[in-house]
Amino acid sequence: MKKGLLIIMSGPSGVGKGTVREYFMKDEELRLAYSISMTTRAPRNGEKDGVDYIFTTKSQFEEAIQQGKLLEWAEFVGNYYGTPMAEVEKLRNEGKNVILEIEVQGAMQVREKCPDALSIFIIPPSMEELEKRIRGRKSEPEECVQQRLAKAEREMKMVKDYKYVICNDDPKLAADIISLIIKRHMEEPSY
Ligand code: 5GP
Repeated sequence: MKKGLLIIMSGPSGVGKGTVREYFMKDEELRLAYSISMTTRAPRNGEKDGVDYIFTTKSQFEEAIQQGKLLEWAEFVGNYYGTPMAEVEKLRNEGKNVILEIEVQGAMQVREKCPDALSIFIIPPSMEELEKRIRGRKSEPEECVQQRLAKAEREMKMVKDYKYVICNDDPKLAADIISLIIKRHMEEPSY
């Protein structure tokens, strides 16, 4: 069996990566699996441990780093986020195409380790719209909203490092475009 693709999906906080992903994950032809990240951030309303994230303490996270268990990790607005390596490898060896929904520093680490990874960056229609979406979520205090917006400005400068840039004006349309991109890569002889 062919090893599955590694697909990096980045984009500023609030751009709607999760919504877009939910749409394209429904396409069974893509044989996708979502890599569940570890984080030290507190769960938001409705988020479940082991489904949305593996919620851990700072010391558990640091232990995972020291033991070399993470494919990549980064600090984002005061919290750690990282991708458990063993699970990603297991899924890819089962032939699944694995989606990593990660920020730009982590994406850089993955590209260095796995130059074949397919990378997609999702941008908002405008920075005003992004601010509206972050505020609409009502999950962070004002200070955190400001930090996320400042971070978004910096992250947007990294689009040049990605193979594809997709604007999330309409999540269903963005998802359809991503499905096509993934299918195209599944047809490549090296896949
Ligand atoms: P949030 O707190 O909004 O869920 O996530 C904050 C940022 O961290 C988002 O850009 C998200 O894509 C990113 N992120 C989530 N999981 C990981 C991970 O495992 N590694 C890295 N580097 N970033 C992650």
